[in-house]
Amino acid sequence: MLHYKVAIIGAGPAGYFAAQALHNLQNEERVFAIDMIEQLPTPWGLVRSGVAPDHPKMKTVSKVFEKIAADPNFRLFANVEIGTEITVAALVEKYDAVVVATGSTLGKKLGIPGEDLYGSMSAADFAPWYNAHPDFADVKVPFDCDTAVVIGAGNVAMDVVRMLALDPSELDPTDTADHAITAFKNSAVRKVYLSARRGAEHAAFTSPELRELPKLQHTNVIIERSDIEAAIVRAGQTPGKDVKSNLDAMLLIAKNPKIDNDRTMEFLFQHTPKEILGADRVEGVVYSTPNGDVRIKCGLVITAIGYQAASINGVPYENGKVVNVDGRVHAGMYVVGWAKRGPTGVIGTNKSDSAAVVELLVADLKPPKNAGDISQLITSQQVVDQSGWLRIDAAEVAAGEAKGKPRVKSIKRAELLKKAGI
Ligand code: NAP
Repeated sequence: MLHYKVAIIGAGPAGYFAAQALHNLQNEERVFAIDMIEQLPTPWGLVRSGVAPDHPKMKTVSKVFEKIAADPNFRLFANVEIGTEITVAALVEKYDAVVVATGSTLGKKLGIPGEDLYGSMSAADFAPWYNAHPDFADVKVPFDCDTAVVIGAGNVAMDVVRMLALDPSELDPTDTADHAITAFKNSAVRKVYLSARRGAEHAAFTSPELRELPKLQHTNVIIERSDIEAAIVRAGQTPGKDVKSNLDAMLLIAKNPKIDNDRTMEFLFQHTPKEILGADRVEGVVYSTPNGDVRIKCGLVITAIGYQAASINGVPYENGKVVNVDGRVHAGMYVVGWAKRGPTGVIGTNKSDSAAVVELLVADLKPPKNAGDISQLITSQQVVDQSGWLRIDAAEVAAGEAKGKPRVKSIKRAELLKKAGI
């Protein structure tokens, strides 16, 4: 029997699906001991700190993650950062394979004037703020304005616009960070624009997200009917299935505008951001449109225009991704998820993607190294293992039960470590 050791850096969906694929490739000749290493004290990656809290069904995939983690050959090392104290090279030396699964956490920049003003931020900061990510608890979001603008036409922009435009009482039964619920309740924002630089036929949303908008009880959703009719013409006689489904959903909204709520989201198409205006804080956005420049007065701008991977020392990067061929960085090092392919696809996309990379990994295997593992490299006393995480999980769920929420997330690292029993 060959005993292989695999380190997975990053405890998000792609990492768990890689662990699952390794588990499935065990047979009477080989087993895999998997060590998953995570810089936060908590696992689950975007399922905890990215997925919108009003989409609880999407988080049920965490049950799959926990089933994978329950395998006796799986160990979690959370609250451990790789690339500083423990190097990637040291992991490569010890493990038969290292899988990088660290995602794309940095928001892309527009590269226009005014982008760095107070009140202009990326969804890469805003979403973890409302999702109780410890490193984003102090992000300052100015809600003392009546109008906000979200730039981008993908599902992240859709999450952000919904979070800004729904009635905050709708967040009470969710696991939104307490500080964010309070801020949303005190917010003066009543009008939120979502701006797309191209026509509606090019929008990157998926239609289920559009179809749920009319169900928002306290929010008007405005889409200009002529924008969609023009997009339908431009899309031609045989638009792709997804484009047609999106346009149908948008036309339905456009034909049935709600106007009786005091909160409104409005979609703007063919609006290319040119400049963010303001002296010491955001005061507006200038767009270039087919009808000339348009100015929108607002006090908050959130860009949701894609992500790039944050670098880890010892891993090669290019164009915001880890340099790789089909997930192989070099024999012994692999990459999965958004760090591999860029920020595309839904959570489930990672299942087949990680499985394909793991097949390469297994094909590359040599006889086991038997060179030890991360436990010989760790000096910190503050590692959260699977049982520590289960204690955090149980405490958060119990705190949520009392309030009719799935959980109340702890925000500070110290608080999380205390709950883990450290
Ligand atoms: P995305 O789907 O790639 O959308 C990015 C948007 O940003 C596009 O509309 C793009 O427009 C726009 N954009 C890019 N550069 C721009 C610029 N310089 N100026 C103006 N607009 C610009 O990315 P995402 O929304 O970050 O989502 C990432 C992935 O996560 C997607 O696969 C998404 O479906 C998935 N996701 C899924 C869910 C869900 O299932 N509910 C939720 C969140 C995220 P162009 O098309 O013109 O480039």
